[in-house]
Amino acid sequence: MTVRLRNTLTRNVEPVEPLEAGRVRMYSCGPTVYRYAHVGNLRSYLLADLIRRALLYHGLEVFHVKNVTDVGHLRDERFDRGEDRMLLAAGLESKTPAEIAAAYEAAFHADEAAVNILPAHVFPRATEHIDDMLAMVEQLVDRGAAYLSHHGNVYFSVGNFPGYGRLSGNDLDELRAGHRGAVETDKQDPADFALWKHAGEGRLLRWPTRRWGEGFPGWHIECSAMSARYLGPEFDIHTGGVDNVFPHHEDEIAQSASLTGRPPARHWVHGEFLLMSGRKMAKSAGNFQRITELAEAGFDPLAFRYLALTSRYGRKLNYSDRSIGAAAAALESLRSRLRALGPPPPDGHWAAPEPLRPGAAGERPSGIADGPAGHGDRNESFRLRDRAHDTAPPLSAGGRDLHGRMVSAVDDDLDTPTALAVVREMLRASLSPDERRWLVLDADLVLGLDLDRVWADVSAEDDGLQPDQRRLLEERSAARARRDFPRADALRAELLELGLEVTDRAGGETTWRKVGKR
Ligand code: AMP
Ligand code: ZN
Repeated sequence: MTVRLRNTLTRNVEPVEPLEAGRVRMYSCGPTVYRYAHVGNLRSYLLADLIRRALLYHGLEVFHVKNVTDVGHLRDERFDRGEDRMLLAAGLESKTPAEIAAAYEAAFHADEAAVNILPAHVFPRATEHIDDMLAMVEQLVDRGAAYLSHHGNVYFSVGNFPGYGRLSGNDLDELRAGHRGAVETDKQDPADFALWKHAGEGRLLRWPTRRWGEGFPGWHIECSAMSARYLGPEFDIHTGGVDNVFPHHEDEIAQSASLTGRPPARHWVHGEFLLMSGRKMAKSAGNFQRITELAEAGFDPLAFRYLALTSRYGRKLNYSDRSIGAAAAALESLRSRLRALGPPPPDGHWAAPEPLRPGAAGERPSGIADGPAGHGDRNESFRLRDRAHDTAPPLSAGGRDLHGRMVSAVDDDLDTPTALAVVREMLRASLSPDERRWLVLDADLVLGLDLDRVWADVSAEDDGLQPDQRRLLEERSAARARRDFPRADALRAELLELGLEVTDRAGGETTWRKVGKR
C-alpha cells in the first residue's frame, strides 16, 4: 500500500502513483509576501509537508515547488478596485515593494523552519517569471481561449472551456448569476477572469508587453506558469487551502488545460481552515496569530505542529489559548515518556533511525531564495528505502503490529490523530525500551515533532557536566526505563563518587546537583 489522499478533482481517496517512477512532483500555493504568514497559512503548508514526509517514508523522492507571490496584484477580483496592496504596504512602511517583499519572504522561511517544514526545492518568485506568464497568456489569446478587452485587459473566456467548474463543483450559469452587477464592464462574460491587466495610473509594479502595453499578471496565471516551468505540463500533486479551490485552482486548470488538454496536476489536495473565534483565521479579519507570537508567549512552536496533527487535514480545526495549551501539554508528556526510555545507542539495531533525506535542497535559503536553488535533486542519484515495508531492526510481533498500524493511519489520507494515538501506545507497550524508543522515533520521521531532541536538550542543559558524569546519568535513565532498579542504584552510588547527587522525583523525572567529589 502507499499513501492515499483525497483528490478534490475526483472526490475520491486515491493512491499517489507518481507519473515518473519513484519520484513525485508537487506544487504548493505559497505565501503572499506583503504581510506575515499566520498559523492558519502554516496549517496549509504543514499539510504539504506531511504529504512529502509520508511519501519519503515510502521511499518516494519528492520534488517540491512552492511559489512566492511578490507581485502585489490583487488576489481576488472582488477586491479589485484599482488599489495595489504592495503599494499600500509600501506607503505604510516607507519601503520599496521589493524591500517589503524581501523582508516578508525571509520571515516566511523562518516561520516554516520553526514548525519543521522541509523547505521546498524551489521557491519561484512571481516577479521573476513574468515572461513565462506573458508567453502563456499570448498562447491562450492566439488559440482563442482568451481575448483583449476594450479596456486593455486580457480575460480568459470561461464559456469556451468545457470543463469549467469541475474542480469546485460550480455551475457556470450560477456563477454568472452571482456576478450580475459586478463592476468590471469590459468582460464578454461576467464569469471570465483576468490573465493580464492593464496598469493604470499610480500602479507601482508594472511590466511592458509586446502586445498590450504596460500591465501586470492575474494571480492564477502565476501558478500555471511557474508550475509548468519547474514541474512540466503534468505533475502529481497540487496543494493549497480550501479557499484556493475556487477561483484560484479552478482557473489554473482552465488556463493550463486549454494549452495541454488536461489539468496540470493529477491529485488536488486541499486543507481545511484553521479557525479562531469561530471564523477562518485571516489577516483581513484581524483574528490571526503568528508563530513568533506563540513563541513569545512561551510555547514551543512545535506545539502548533502537534495541534495540527490532532485533526485530520480535511476538518476545520479551532485555534485558541486552550487548544494550543492542551497541545503543548500533550507534546510535553510525549517527550517526557520518551526521555524516560533513555537515549538511543550510537549503533546497532536500536540506533536512532536515519533521518529522511529530503533531497538535495540542502540548506533552507537564508532570507531570500536564489531562484531555482536546490534543483540538484534531479542529478543526485540516491535510492530511498521504503521504510513502511522494510523496517531495519528486527521488531517483535507486538512492535510490527504497532508499526503497521502507524503506517496504515498515515496512508489512510493522513489520519494523523490515529497515528498520534498509536505513538502513545508505542510508549506504553510491554516491549523493550529499545524497541519502544525506536518505534516512536521512526514514527516521528513522518510526524516531524523532533522527538529525538529530548536527549539533545538534556545534554545542552547539562553544560558543566563532565563526560563520564553525563554518560552514567544516561546509563542510569536507561536502566530505570527497563526497570533495572538494582543497576540504577549502583549507578547512583557511582555518580555520588563522581560528585553528583541524583534524586528521582514523583512522575519519573530525575534531577541532580553537584556535591563535590568524595
Ligand atoms: P494566502 O497568502 O492568503 O494566499 O494563503 C496562503 C495559503 O494559506 C493558501 O494555501 C491558503 O489557502 C491558506 N490559508 C489561508 N488562510 C487559512 C486558514 N485560516 N487556515 C488554513 N489555511 C489557510
Ligand atoms: Zn497558487
